[in-house]
Amino acid sequence: MLQLKGIKKNYVTSSETVQALKGVDIAFRKQEFVSILGPSGCGKTTLLNIIGGLDHYTDGDLVISGRSTKSYSDRDWDVYRNHRVGFIFQSYNLIPHQTILGNVELALTIAGVEREERIMRAKKALDRVGLGGQYYKRPNQLSGGQCQRVAIARALVNDPEILLADEPTGALDTVTSVQIMELIKEISGERLVIMVTHNPELAEQYSTRIVRLRDGLVTEDTDPMTEEQIKAEELAEKEASKADAPAVTDGEKAEPTEKQSEGKKPERSKKEKAKMSFFTAFRLSARNLLSKKGRTAMVGFAGSIGIIGIAMVLAFSAGIKGYVASMQDDMLSGNPITITETTYDLGALTGMMDEEQKEEIIKNPNHAYINSLIAYIAKMSEVSDSIIIKNDITKAYVDYVKAMPKEYYNALLLQYGMDMTHSIYTDFDRVVGGKAQTQNISIAALTEIYTSVLKDTKYSQYASYVTQIAPSFQQAPDNPDYIASQYEVFGEIADDYDEVMLVLSPDQELSDMLLARLGFYTEEEFYNLVYKVSDSEFYDEKLDVVSYTYEELMGKTFTWYDNNSLYTKNNNAMTQLTQPYKYNYDSATMTEKNGVELKVVGILIANDNTTYGCLSSGIYYTRALTDYALEKNADSEIVSYVQEKGDLTSMSYMGMNMGVCYEYTYRPILTEDGEGTEPEADKTATAFVGKSIGVEDIMGSMAGGGSGSTGGGMGSMGNVDMTSMKTITARFLGGVNIANNISIYPKSFEEKNLVTDYLDAWNASGQLTYGDNTVAEENRMDITYTDTLELVISMINTMIDVISYALIAFTSISLVVSTVMIGIITYVSVVERIKEIGVIRSLGGRKKDVSHLFNAETFIIGLLAGLFGVGVTYLISAVVNVILTPLIGYSSIAALPLTDAIALIALSIGLTLISGLIPASSAANKDPVVALRTE
Ligand code: ADP
Ligand code: MG
Repeated sequence: MLQLKGIKKNYVTSSETVQALKGVDIAFRKQEFVSILGPSGCGKTTLLNIIGGLDHYTDGDLVISGRSTKSYSDRDWDVYRNHRVGFIFQSYNLIPHQTILGNVELALTIAGVEREERIMRAKKALDRVGLGGQYYKRPNQLSGGQCQRVAIARALVNDPEILLADEPTGALDTVTSVQIMELIKEISGERLVIMVTHNPELAEQYSTRIVRLRDGLVTEDTDPMTEEQIKAEELAEKEASKADAPAVTDGEKAEPTEKQSEGKKPERSKKEKAKMSFFTAFRLSARNLLSKKGRTAMVGFAGSIGIIGIAMVLAFSAGIKGYVASMQDDMLSGNPITITETTYDLGALTGMMDEEQKEEIIKNPNHAYINSLIAYIAKMSEVSDSIIIKNDITKAYVDYVKAMPKEYYNALLLQYGMDMTHSIYTDFDRVVGGKAQTQNISIAALTEIYTSVLKDTKYSQYASYVTQIAPSFQQAPDNPDYIASQYEVFGEIADDYDEVMLVLSPDQELSDMLLARLGFYTEEEFYNLVYKVSDSEFYDEKLDVVSYTYEELMGKTFTWYDNNSLYTKNNNAMTQLTQPYKYNYDSATMTEKNGVELKVVGILIANDNTTYGCLSSGIYYTRALTDYALEKNADSEIVSYVQEKGDLTSMSYMGMNMGVCYEYTYRPILTEDGEGTEPEADKTATAFVGKSIGVEDIMGSMAGGGSGSTGGGMGSMGNVDMTSMKTITARFLGGVNIANNISIYPKSFEEKNLVTDYLDAWNASGQLTYGDNTVAEENRMDITYTDTLELVISMINTMIDVISYALIAFTSISLVVSTVMIGIITYVSVVERIKEIGVIRSLGGRKKDVSHLFNAETFIIGLLAGLFGVGVTYLISAVVNVILTPLIGYSSIAALPLTDAIALIALSIGLTLISGLIPASSAANKDPVVALRTE
């Protein structure tokens, strides 16, 4: 029994309070057909909405099955609407984008009924209202009468006890109205039907009871329940609720069955729920989005633009990092870990640069202020002291490095600051006085000659760079297998002390200056090269050498001489003091000749897998030759002299005192007017080329790491005192057998850490044990090594990161824009679907169900946008990679990592969900009555 007790309803608006119901008392029987009649605006719809739980009364009470609804929660109302009430509206309120089967199903969907059962029951309900076989039509394909039948089917599908109809025939013609009335009449045989109508005839004809309303009050009731009837009902309900009570706890879902709905119905248990799963919301939203494919695609695409932007940045960032990583092992061979006697603390350097800030003072316009250069110098000196690190490389340290496990590294390169260019001699062909002659002179002399020739051209300023640009004899890392892994070898790899090898650049070239210094050109050919670049009329094409065959290159011979052969004591009393020894740049002047003939045994060129090999283009000798030279020169005369004259503080130029000078006659190129002229062979001008091993040379050779190898770019440039001058000179002459420059070529980028860990152990506190040796802490000075590759790679990676972040920040703007846009579109969708929201609520859908519906929608859009964005990114990446692979030789320069892709999809979903939260909650909070009244 449904009982209204003094129901009042006030609508409070900003201007006035409308009393829609002013105290309505009606009791309805379980089964009857009640018509409510009354003029427009008298409160009929309001009354119906209150009975149906869509709207709430202001005062009074609505008693349902003996229970007051004063204490009803939102949840209770939802359950009540979903399971016990069916609504039929004048305007049908069908959801246009669902089939009629879907529309009918909706009430069951909200109740959380399984799909199969849902379809079965919905079809049955449609069959019953005479729409069998039209299940998959859409509302806009039906007539008004048919639509109302669908609405009736929807109202009945949950088998409610009460059917509420608000002017169900108001929009129908007479014939159809009668059909609908017949249907409702039939339905009222099993339940309570309360129908609002304008039409008194229909009411008279079909209903069993008529209630008239006027101005919010009941004016007439043709068949009210008597006091006794009410009492009897109340008693029956009390009994029933007692009998029903235990069932509350048994937790099982009691779906109403067909049997229950027949005849007398037991009071329904409170276990009934209005529960729609998120998955169902998902399905409903998906269906809605599918019905608007075009718009969904547009929104998804718009949402994906920001994602594509960020994904592309991430893809390139990861791809480039991958590329750098792929080159790491390769780059290692060009960037070994080096230990030099002096190195820079780069960390301190950058720290200093940051600190450099001059304090600002307010300056008086009539004063001149003093800028302290002294303070600046003091500062600079402090800075250089803290930046330059002196490494004391001892024999123990070298031994320690040599004892490093062999599996950590490919090769070791120990250099001793020894200058080979003064010790290696080669044949030099020239014409003197019309006569061809061959001289055997040192590489250093030849270099000096050609530098002097270049100084006579208009390029004189740059002439001295030549020695720095083109390296000559260098020592190769001592591991032939390692070299063989990186180079294609014609002939063989130099292994013995009398073997050297020539390394070509990857494009099969050698520089002209290197070839000149090694004596491959005749003097005439070299002059011709100079004529060529200075556009001289004396340039002779026939003399131009474009290439050498490997046989020609391998036919060249070199001789290494020991110190005793190179330096002869100066017995001239006049010059003895400044030139104690004379340097024999021409082997013809040597009195002793202890030499080793060096054979070119191989020509090397980097193989396909190697971009940065351990050898740059040039000529290389072996460690065996270094060892041989050190041993031979250790107690040579000149070395003993240098060692003896330890105290050289009184002398201004150590180098001058070494007196290793030579002079050479060459043909000048320039005439007085600076134009080139052909030097006449028989009128050779004689020019003096003086040369002494001075501080410059020694410093230069040190800065080049002893041999100009790739490793020792940062040699000593700082203050060199006289004691170290002595050592440097001794080293220069091969008189010191403790390496001053160590390069370690780790096996791979991973092993590099093992190497650095091993080197770090030297600086750790406590005793150091390695192999059978133990070194106490006090015998170990800290050694700082330079890990160039680490520096380079971390710099590159930091740069990539910084650029990526900046780009992501920019592209994020489009992400924000698309997020806001999706929010707006969702809001529009809420406005569009406001009727649907009302229907869902009238069918017992919870606020949560409504918000789920919209959240599911934004979730799907976010997912689509994310998937689309990531998909497009992978597509673009694939295209970019196909294009770039041949250019850079790396196949995935754009590679979005899977984790990033997933994160981006999640981000897209998250952002669109957030953007939809406000519209979704506004939808959920829509008053269902207002929603339904909206046209
Ligand atoms: P009927 O269905 O009998 O035509 P209603 O129940 O729709 O009448 O309306 C009863 C009265 O309440 C009318 O005066 C109407 O203007 C007023 N009313 C209905 N809903 C609202 C509302 N949401 N806010 C203010 N007044 C309302
Ligand atoms: Mg009305």
